[in-house]
Amino acid sequence: MLDPSSTFVALVHHPVRDRQGRPITSALTTLDLHDIARSTRTYGLGGFFVVHPAEAQRALARRILDHWLSPEGAAKNDHRRQALETLEVVPTIADAARAIQDREGRAPLQIATAARKSSGTIGYRAVQVDGPALILLGTGGGLADEALAGCPLRLDPIEGPTDYNHLSVRSACAIVLDRLFGVRQD
Ligand code: SAM
Repeated sequence: MLDPSSTFVALVHHPVRDRQGRPITSALTTLDLHDIARSTRTYGLGGFFVVHPAEAQRALARRILDHWLSPEGAAKNDHRRQALETLEVVPTIADAARAIQDREGRAPLQIATAARKSSGTIGYRAVQVDGPALILLGTGGGLADEALAGCPLRLDPIEGPTDYNHLSVRSACAIVLDRLFGVRQD
């Protein structure tokens, strides 16, 4: 069982894949920040890390944060402020893991997500983690091998009744969190 308050999400912009599977760095999509922050807030996660190696892209993320966390931004939309309060901007996945270790006293277990089928993935109900966890979400063409290599656990791809399962990272995040932490209403 995962504890939501010691589970974190990282939106990774490097190392990710291009369409040919080569490692690249992707650009920030500002919508991802708002939507993933709302999901991590809804499911009570410990926090949301935006991982980008380029200072200019981190500055853009911080500028968005500074606006919505300011008294002026909060007065316009306090739900957005509450969601974005969970967001931190860091250069690397290792920095996110270090920040979690500082807070939780233990390094997080890294958990990968991907649309691609591969061997050794695990179902959502089978996830058992004793301690903090960091769920990695990819951008671009998904997490590169270097990021996957640091993940002892990989979640099963989300599938519907068709052979198409290429969700936006925002939608995938919400579904993953609902499968792990959602209150069953059926
Ligand atoms: N530019 C795209 C967008 O609009 O979000 C980025 C797509 S990126 C490949 C999608 C990321 O969302 C993956 O790295 C994974 O974290 C997650 N994802 C997408 N589809 C998924 C699926 N079917 N199962 C699990 N995760 C999925």
